[in-house]
Amino acid sequence: ASGVSLVKAGVLTTCTHLPYAPFQAKDETGKVVGFDVALIDLVAAKLGVKQEIVDTPFEGIKSGSDLNAGKCDVAAAGMTITDERKQVLDFSAPYFDATQALAVLTGSQVKTLEELKGKRLGVQGGTTGEDYIKTQVKDKSLDIEVVSYKDLAALQQALATNQIAAAVNDLPVWNEYIRANPAKIVVAAGFDTGEQYGFAVKKGNAALLKTVDEALAAARSDGTYDKIYTNWIGE
Ligand code: GLN
Repeated sequence: ASGVSLVKAGVLTTCTHLPYAPFQAKDETGKVVGFDVALIDLVAAKLGVKQEIVDTPFEGIKSGSDLNAGKCDVAAAGMTITDERKQVLDFSAPYFDATQALAVLTGSQVKTLEELKGKRLGVQGGTTGEDYIKTQVKDKSLDIEVVSYKDLAALQQALATNQIAAAVNDLPVWNEYIRANPAKIVVAAGFDTGEQYGFAVKKGNAALLKTVDEALAAARSDGTYDKIYTNWIGE
């Protein structure tokens, strides 16, 4: 009735890149859960199907190649809406506001990028955080060695084991890390990049995009969005 056709009958297949808590990560039982998962479950419910999650590198998600190849129907990956990505993906209405943040080990005195002179700064490959840092380093001619990691887990591990002096990623993922590992790291600085996350569909998949936007709008108006926000992000 919705006119939505799915790549695999009877399920809404979601591409994501694990782990990215609190948006998507495995729980103790191995089930993928999180803020994005909960919102896409609402889209699946509206379609009368269950969500099935496919873990895939972020590059294939943001470039549109996974959606174009029919690997999934929708991408839900804490993904920032950018002009470049809008060329290759169709985005839903924004569902989350984020900024970038600089995390350091507790006890580190570093508070600014300038103080990382001659040091190693970790970022996550393919992300807006990586783009932001590379641009800052270039524009301000900063003497920083930028090291890109393949996923958030590798970046956090590098910081926790002191292989890098600091790391940049989206603020909510640092807040979640601190919640799970109290006293290990602190957020030393924030960068107000004014990012907004969107869910994405294959270019031209207007029927599915409409369903995603309607499910989001309904969740915002009936309080479900707020409940999901409180549950996964906090107050
Ligand atoms: N929000 C960032 C981006 O879109 C990071 C996303 C992610 O690593 N899953 O680039």
